[in-house]
Amino acid sequence: MLTGVRYWSKPGYTRIVVDLEGTPEFTTNVLPSDAKSGLPPRIYLDIKKIRPAPNLVEKTQVEDGLLRQVRAARFDPTTMRVVLDLVAYHSYKTFTLPDPYRIVVDVYGDEKAVLSAAPGPELRAAPPAEVKPAPPPAKIPAPLVAKKPVEVPRKTPMSGPAAGLRRIVVDAGHGGKDPGAVGPSGLKEKNITLALAKLLKTELERELGCQVILTRDRDVFIPLEERTAIANKVGADLFISVHANASHNKSAYGVETYYLNFSKNDKAAAVAARENGTSLKQVGDLELILFDLMANAKINESSRLAAEIQNSLVRDLKREYPDVRDLGVKQGPFYVLVGATMPSVLVEAAFISHKREETRLASRAFQQQTSAAIVKGVLNYASALRQVASK
Ligand SMILES: [Zn+2]
Repeated sequence: MLTGVRYWSKPGYTRIVVDLEGTPEFTTNVLPSDAKSGLPPRIYLDIKKIRPAPNLVEKTQVEDGLLRQVRAARFDPTTMRVVLDLVAYHSYKTFTLPDPYRIVVDVYGDEKAVLSAAPGPELRAAPPAEVKPAPPPAKIPAPLVAKKPVEVPRKTPMSGPAAGLRRIVVDAGHGGKDPGAVGPSGLKEKNITLALAKLLKTELERELGCQVILTRDRDVFIPLEERTAIANKVGADLFISVHANASHNKSAYGVETYYLNFSKNDKAAAVAARENGTSLKQVGDLELILFDLMANAKINESSRLAAEIQNSLVRDLKREYPDVRDLGVKQGPFYVLVGATMPSVLVEAAFISHKREETRLASRAFQQQTSAAIVKGVLNYASALRQVASK
């Protein structure tokens, strides 16, 4: 059953999600614009052996400069056709997400449109139905070249946004019906990630003078594809997803930071499977299409950001907690990072499945130290950016 169409957009980028029940097969096709009949270019999906939900909205107006509208209608007795009526586009990517099954189409405009794209005002986490089209673009202030030294003393805010980091999206993993991993004493990952995200917002805003947007600021479920879409929509300069790790091996502990790429080992694949809410096989399937999806990913920047955050976490936490284990920077196919157009990382702060680390995760002191260390990592990343920019 085809139950609905959702979308998020900003200038030069639109993400469309087709919500389905079951796992129907589909094909994707493109029709070029037809000057003779005055028809615009179209992307369409033919979804087989499926029927529309009784309350399906057949036409969704988008009108964001890239996409005019999305139409869903029966093509033949067993096929639904979803048509994206475009105004113009440069490229598009399609991938699927399981449970519930949905098709994600990311449409990109030309480079110029993307570069001149301006973010809209602050966006709070909202249930899908409340997501509104992007507001009209606002003027971006000229980049500010900060003259502060590399080490910024704490509690001394910079005079303005650091090295072009004007807007950071912090994503508290899981939420609502998805508790994430649960510790031996019953501590839920979703509550820890929210506490960490709120601390990060306050600290990043104070230390970097930038705006921080949370994908959620309360205990609410947000689908993975919406989290990245929020970051793209608001034109974020960085995307940081915070999590707590878990393993069947109850003695596993430590801190690790991920960025989007092919998983290089089984452990990374297992972490991705857990965070994606999928099986290992589905992680393998995602890797098969990842080649195509990586075109817009900022891999080098993401790996640098991950390294700065990981180094800072290990160095700073070791002072208080000498037994902190450095599991290093890793790569994996995380759904929440797929399609992000800015440097983006996923931090696994500690193992909630490990008794000692579960106790730590629950303590305010550990949360504050973890958050402060991540902020320092972001500051170091920004400083390196500034040095590159001033050369
Ligand atoms: Zn998680």
